[in-house]
Amino acid sequence: MEYKAYYGLPDKVVFCRECVISNQRPGSTVEFTNKNLKKETIQFNEEGICSACQYNRQKKEIDYQRRQEALFEFLDRYRKSDGTYDVIVPSSGGKDSSFTTHCVKTKYKMNPLAVTWAPHIYTEVGWRNFNNLSRTGGVDSILYTPNGDLHRLLTRLAFENLCHPFQPFIHGQKIIGPSMALKFGVSLVMYGENQAEYGNDIRDNLRNTMDYSFFSVDNPLEMVMGGMAVRDIIEKYGFSLKDFAPYIPPKADDLRSRNIQVHYLGFYERWDPQEMYYYASEHTGFQAAPERSIGTYSKYTEIDDILIPFHFYTTYIKFGIGRATYDAAQEIRNGKIAREEGVALVRKYDGEFPEKYFKQFLEYMNISEERFWEVVDNARSPHLWKKENNRWVLRHAVAEELEVI
Ligand SMILES: [Zn+2]
Repeated sequence: MEYKAYYGLPDKVVFCRECVISNQRPGSTVEFTNKNLKKETIQFNEEGICSACQYNRQKKEIDYQRRQEALFEFLDRYRKSDGTYDVIVPSSGGKDSSFTTHCVKTKYKMNPLAVTWAPHIYTEVGWRNFNNLSRTGGVDSILYTPNGDLHRLLTRLAFENLCHPFQPFIHGQKIIGPSMALKFGVSLVMYGENQAEYGNDIRDNLRNTMDYSFFSVDNPLEMVMGGMAVRDIIEKYGFSLKDFAPYIPPKADDLRSRNIQVHYLGFYERWDPQEMYYYASEHTGFQAAPERSIGTYSKYTEIDDILIPFHFYTTYIKFGIGRATYDAAQEIRNGKIAREEGVALVRKYDGEFPEKYFKQFLEYMNISEERFWEVVDNARSPHLWKKENNRWVLRHAVAEELEVI
């Protein structure tokens, strides 16, 4: 019997033969998702290998040394002599952005300004790491915090309408680089890793720049946030367009006329999250969390926001892919763990419920526990979930044994 697949996901669940990711992984981090909308997902080849693993093979052939030399030369165009900033680095104070900022400053001799889109609720270790980047890492930084009333509402709408509480945050993180570049009169933005490494459109890995045309909106009132047009949010909840200033993307024409370029350092430096962690610990005072993150076994990835475990919990609900799957897939590719160990870790931790922060999450968005479960259960795609003895269980699980193709 065929079960309905939401979000336009592939009907048949297939796991990669090399890592542990499934073909349900969304192919884009800009998830303006809706249950009935077609969603691009990670691509698999005829051998059952995901595009991220395929790219990982190609990566071994890349002459990074040459790319780094070319980058150094390219950056000469952006080095200023008047003491102002040369480059904007969108940063969270996490290990990857700490690496990016420090590397751009020390190895590439640029004058960077790190800009951070504030987490919903900082964790203790996240706040410490954010401060350490400047206090001991030696770079200037700015924390950009949107109006809490509106951000909480947008987060709630994104959760209730899309089961995607992180959508407004991701939106902010995406536009803060180009947006701050315009404000500071800087023409270069340097992001760290390109998400295409993990299975977004693989062709993106062949480019060193980001296409920022998607940032542009003709009319901010028509922009959709949390599944609702800004015009309707203003009307229903009593905000004004001014409140949306941090969320309104810079116009593509303005970016183009100022020749603002958006690059990924991951194109030039071989990206390995564990190595980035070691680097950040040594150079920017970055510290891992005291305990493993909920839903996974790792301690140093995305540890700055109390709401992050709920982001991964909702990916588990919508796509059957939780935090341990993302971590294990990446570590298998980077040769840190074997596939069978990855499978065991996924089975142990994926989808673990963030009980510890549940109360805070509900309070933050001002919703009831009943409403939370209503939204979550409504987002479970029938092709992924079934009810057994009154409990929800996934129909498919990653296995050590591989199917014969
Ligand atoms: Zn794979």
